[in-house]
Amino acid sequence: METIKKSESKKACASCGAELKFKPGSHQIKCEYCGYEEFIEQSKSSFEELELQHYLKVVGENAYTETIDLLHCKNCGANQHTEENFKSLHCVYCNEPLIKEDIDQEGWILPGALVPFQLDNKKAQSIFKNWVNGIWFAPTNLKRAALDPEGMHGLYIPHWTFDAKIRADYQGQRGEYYYETQRIKTKNGTQTRQVRKTRWYPASGSINGFADDILINASEKKRREIPQGVSFWNLEELAAFNSKYLSGFVTEKYTISLKEGHQRSFQTAKEIAYNIIRRDIGGDTQRIRHADIKLSDETFKHILLPMYISAYRFNGKEYHFYINGQTGQISGTRPYSFWKIFFLVLFIIVIIAFIAIFAQ
Ligand SMILES: [Zn+2]
Ligand SMILES: [Zn+2]
Repeated sequence: METIKKSESKKACASCGAELKFKPGSHQIKCEYCGYEEFIEQSKSSFEELELQHYLKVVGENAYTETIDLLHCKNCGANQHTEENFKSLHCVYCNEPLIKEDIDQEGWILPGALVPFQLDNKKAQSIFKNWVNGIWFAPTNLKRAALDPEGMHGLYIPHWTFDAKIRADYQGQRGEYYYETQRIKTKNGTQTRQVRKTRWYPASGSINGFADDILINASEKKRREIPQGVSFWNLEELAAFNSKYLSGFVTEKYTISLKEGHQRSFQTAKEIAYNIIRRDIGGDTQRIRHADIKLSDETFKHILLPMYISAYRFNGKEYHFYINGQTGQISGTRPYSFWKIFFLVLFIIVIIAFIAIFAQ
């Protein structure tokens, strides 16, 4: 077992003693009361890639490098961590109140890196507001419910990334197109047309490649899927992990284990290998009959990626909005107002009826 470190260091304002919070878009923590700011020390060495097989075999399934305080949501099962002291906190995913007494100490593999929030809560709110104002047929009180600033949380979502060298021996076929002229009989006589055919040649060989930063969401999705449209982060902006970046935000602990994440990543590694094989075979089209794919020098990182999530209930149904905390991309589900649509349809029918009457 690795040494157990505590990531929670006290983050008190040097000037007034209040809690310091990470200032999005910077590498600073800031006091909201007196404006005092402090730089987050940047580690000079780049964040380390951890050796995968060591973790899977030696450290084991429940590998962890430190313990953190986690709050479990009794309603949806998400586990969440905050750096600061809080009076009341609601689940980021389902808005259920979380109870301080439910805090558990749990082990986790300390994240190696994270993409710090670039947008602050105010900016996220205004993106959200514009979006809500721009949607048609939204119930009037949706705007009130959705724009409750208490309902929006900044969440660091856990991810695994995997790197590996790929080697594969393959057997398959290279296809080359050629065209044949066919005569077909129609009502208007005989016509000719070109038909594409493929000639197949055997192909085999071995390829080498590299899988770089295969990204696997480590948050179990039985609760809900984060929409594709907001799930792109620029990993060039990864910063070495420092718990000061978490201050003022909620952090989720992974619920997909390293082992399971690794298994899921193999599908992507396989697709990368197949693409390299196809290029290696060449021709117009390819068939891969057999490929023996081997990964080596596998490394991984546990990283955190920023997302604003707004969950609220409307007429007994749960709705969600997501804003990427790095790019500001927004996506969400929305209710429709039955009455607004009903009156619009009625209005159109009346207009058509008028036109019909005057036309006669
Ligand atoms: Zn202060
Ligand atoms: Zn919940």
